Amino acid sequence: MLRIGIYTRVSSTGQLDGHSLQTQLERLKELADAQFAGSEYELAIYEEEGLSGTLPPAQMTEGVQTKQRPALTRLLADAEAGQLDAVLFYSVSRLAREEAVFFPAKKKLDNLGVPYRFLDADVDPATDEGALLIGILGIFAATQLRQHKRRIKDAFAKRREEGYTPGGQPPYGLMWQQRDDVPKGGRRGWVQDQHAARWAKWMQERYTAGWTTTKIAEEATRLGVARPSGSNARWDSSAVRKVLVNPFLAGLITHPDGSLTEGQHYEERLWDPEERELMVKRLTRNRKVGSTTVKSTHFPLSGIVTCGHCGARLHGRTNNTGKRFYMCSTQHQHGKEACVGVSRLADPIEKAVTQTIRELATMEHVRDLATEETLSLLNEEKGRLVAHRQDLARERTRTQESIDRLTDMRIAGELTVEQYRVQNDRLWQHCQDLVQQIEEVDRQVEEQNSRHVELETARETLQNFNAVWDALDPDEQQEALRTVIEYAKLEPADGKDLLLRLKVVFLPEKQIPMPSYIKRKTTSGLGSLSPRDLAYLWHKRAGLDDRAIARLWDTTKQNAITRWRGIKKRLDVQTVEKAIEQAADRLDTEKHALPLLGRVNKRADKQVKFAWTKKRRQILAGLVADMPAHELAQSLGICTKTLSERIRRMKRHAGVKTVAELLAWARQAEIIDADA
Ligand SMILES: [Zn+2]
Repeated sequence: MLRIGIYTRVSSTGQLDGHSLQTQLERLKELADAQFAGSEYELAIYEEEGLSGTLPPAQMTEGVQTKQRPALTRLLADAEAGQLDAVLFYSVSRLAREEAVFFPAKKKLDNLGVPYRFLDADVDPATDEGALLIGILGIFAATQLRQHKRRIKDAFAKRREEGYTPGGQPPYGLMWQQRDDVPKGGRRGWVQDQHAARWAKWMQERYTAGWTTTKIAEEATRLGVARPSGSNARWDSSAVRKVLVNPFLAGLITHPDGSLTEGQHYEERLWDPEERELMVKRLTRNRKVGSTTVKSTHFPLSGIVTCGHCGARLHGRTNNTGKRFYMCSTQHQHGKEACVGVSRLADPIEKAVTQTIRELATMEHVRDLATEETLSLLNEEKGRLVAHRQDLARERTRTQESIDRLTDMRIAGELTVEQYRVQNDRLWQHCQDLVQQIEEVDRQVEEQNSRHVELETARETLQNFNAVWDALDPDEQQEALRTVIEYAKLEPADGKDLLLRLKVVFLPEKQIPMPSYIKRKTTSGLGSLSPRDLAYLWHKRAGLDDRAIARLWDTTKQNAITRWRGIKKRLDVQTVEKAIEQAADRLDTEKHALPLLGRVNKRADKQVKFAWTKKRRQILAGLVADMPAHELAQSLGICTKTLSERIRRMKRHAGVKTVAELLAWARQAEIIDADA
């Protein structure tokens, strides 16, 4: 019987662009039916979910620490081991989205001699023409991705050139403008937050007057000045420093190359760029060691999502087991009295946000409708402004002509000095008014233009979002989110559940329920055991000790012990052995359903096998023969203490108390002959 490998990949969970894993699988099954009609075959399915086509398989990384594609890795390994007779791919772009991945992978497949086909290219890669076409398609897939990325980056750059401030929470001293006259979906600009701006300026004045940042911080704390998050945490010198050097507060915006330009909020600046320049110079001179913080963990939504209770931004945090959280910064700094707060695991929130944007980005009609509508609104407004400006300009020309005529009449002596002066003053005043009005209209047109840019950026980002999301760098991902998200609030819903209110610019708000942690049906009894609990018991029964189990699950021995405690409590037993006894049925029947068991099984098996070395078997044989301990130890070349330690370990592996029980167990496990 032939064994056909089938490879499918989606770069995101639940991809919505018509290439879902299910679709890919069905089409490939049809292809297999057509290709291998008449012969018996079975399918080996290699599925990759949530991984970009720019990632390599493990075979191509050579010790370099990078994210890999496990399914493709397995497929290549199986092909190499001769377990596959052919391989089918859904498309060239599923195999790779980057030349540096595509060509080595193709070469690897060619060298293995296992025939392979792509659904989107009806050619044999083993022929010259086929190889050429596949190569072109591979380059095309990579180019396509790069183009998408380029377009998003261009849009970002244009947005920055226009002086747009980033989305998310503005820095201390500034806030989002609350305005009603903004057209649907348009984002507001930054304005001074009167209260905070006063304190920021106070700090700047003190610093210019010669105070140190530490002294300013102490004084600010003493005066009870609220911190940026709206909380009452103490100011420290680094928080003051942040305020003083922040380019945004000097009306500037930052570019990726480190350069600074005037932002759209320039008029709202707290001090001039030159003043900031001076402070930066003084601060860097006073600073002994630069304390650049390295971002080790990435939180793309940090500063974007806000707390529904107090409005403070949520901060990304990592707990001691390495789990990532978003948590209300007020609560974090002040505890539950300051804000009851919200806190959630980062993954589900990030998934909900990106998934929602993905959906908005794929529902073409929604996207087009919203943007077309907004665009026509913007255009209408702009048309009106332009027409109005023309009227004003004409009026100004007419007034100017009247003034000229007046001068002529005065020269011709048709007007008295008094008459001339009165009329001239009136006309000049009118002219000045018109100039001012024209300037105001120009400002409004400018605003309309930049709103167009924002709309374009948002549209470019949304349009390319699905194609590039996984291929973007973390910083680019964050920028993409900031570009399209107007706000994201995590609010309390029913009980422990939360509601995520997400508004993408120019589109209506979305409400996504964020349920609290998965509730277990029962808190005691067998039903309360989680799949991982069962897996732990299963491993224990297989003879692994706590350290080995902890290693398998990438955790500490202490955590493993804590888990045993929980299991024993829920099953109301005193020992783990009793727990295993109670759960025996579930362990036997659900063995295959245990998550990750497959993943760790191989490692577990290895460790169990390792436990039954030749020496251990010899010890068992000696025990069966009832040899005295010192004699047995001598025959093995070890001391009696080591021997008893070894026996103790074997008993623990077998989960038994006495030597007799160990031997019985070993017979049953066929480690020693049953009739021995
Ligand atoms: Zn809060």
